[in-house]
Amino acid sequence: MYPRAFDYLVPRTREEALEVLAERGSEVKVLAGGQSLIPMMKLRFASPTTLVDINRLPGLDAIDAVNGHVRIQALVRHNDIIRSDVVRAENHLMTSTAPWVADPLVRNRGTVCGSVAHHDPEGDWASVMLALGAEVVAESRDGGTRVIPIEDFLVDMFTTALEPTELLTEIRVPRYERGGGNYQKLERKVGDYATVGVATHLELDEAGVITKAGIALTSVYVRNLKVTEAEALLVGRAPSAELFGEAAAIAAAACDPTSDIRGSAEYKRNIVRVFTERSLAESASIAQGS
Ligand SMILES: Cc1cc2nc3c(=O)[nH]c(=O)nc-3n(C[C@H](O)[C@H](O)[C@H](O)COP(=O)(O)OP(=O)(O)OC[C@H]3O[C@@H](n4cnc5c(N)ncnc54)[C@H](O)[C@@H]3O)c2cc1C
Repeated sequence: MYPRAFDYLVPRTREEALEVLAERGSEVKVLAGGQSLIPMMKLRFASPTTLVDINRLPGLDAIDAVNGHVRIQALVRHNDIIRSDVVRAENHLMTSTAPWVADPLVRNRGTVCGSVAHHDPEGDWASVMLALGAEVVAESRDGGTRVIPIEDFLVDMFTTALEPTELLTEIRVPRYERGGGNYQKLERKVGDYATVGVATHLELDEAGVITKAGIALTSVYVRNLKVTEAEALLVGRAPSAELFGEAAAIAAAACDPTSDIRGSAEYKRNIVRVFTERSLAESASIAQGS
């Protein structure tokens, strides 16, 4: 199917883009990589009257480590994460996740920020950002800059706290000293969305005790699910197989997968348990070696 007719605007400055968003509001959609928006428009699930293409905006493609966080700006593609020395040096979970996202063609165009803004519960990056305790930065002409914790940003399936007049300009991921993380993903075939995805991140103190824990699940709930009860169980304890088994059981109980072409609910719940245990063990092993 063809999309409905729309105006296509290509602003050359951030101010110009924010001006269009402020003037046209809810009729407008921001176009980043187009890897989710264009299919939605072709299926007529989305019919914006105006597209604001942000791909020509300068100063929006940085990945850097500044002020205690790794900054991922709006035009950073999935493949930029794979190629980034900063991400490789700074963040194990992001490094582990990027090669699992879609296929090489989609990874060349699709953006990390676009994935989080889209908030498809089958998207991998929202789980990663939940596990890492990231913050989202939104800018608008009249509201200035808002910094939103990722848990508040991700409201519900395909729904975020972003106002129609706002541009998501960057995601900030806290830096850490002694930590580790990784992403476990089951997919039917290369390039597919997750049947189940599990993101974990652990930080340890000098005595080896867990000081910070992040666990989030993909494709097994109506939105990306942060398993706060399991995270709380881990903090203040030493890593062990028994502890990770307990946390994994909580994660399996917390999710609510549906039976579909990718597998039965029971099967997916069991994968959540196995992957959470495995992912936590891997994260702890990385943290202990760092
Ligand atoms: C074949 C295929 C396989 C895929 N497999 C996976 C997969 O395995 N895992 C996965 O996680 N994803 C997968 N995806 C989705 C892909 O990761 C998309 O790139 C991502 O979901 C959206 O990023 P985008 O830059 O393409 O956003 P777009 O499609 O341009 O936009 C998506 C939505 O976010 C909004 N938006 C985008 N950027 C901004 C911004 N800066 N500020 C405000 N709003 C913004 C848009 O207005 C739109 O509503 C797949 C896509 C395809 C086509």
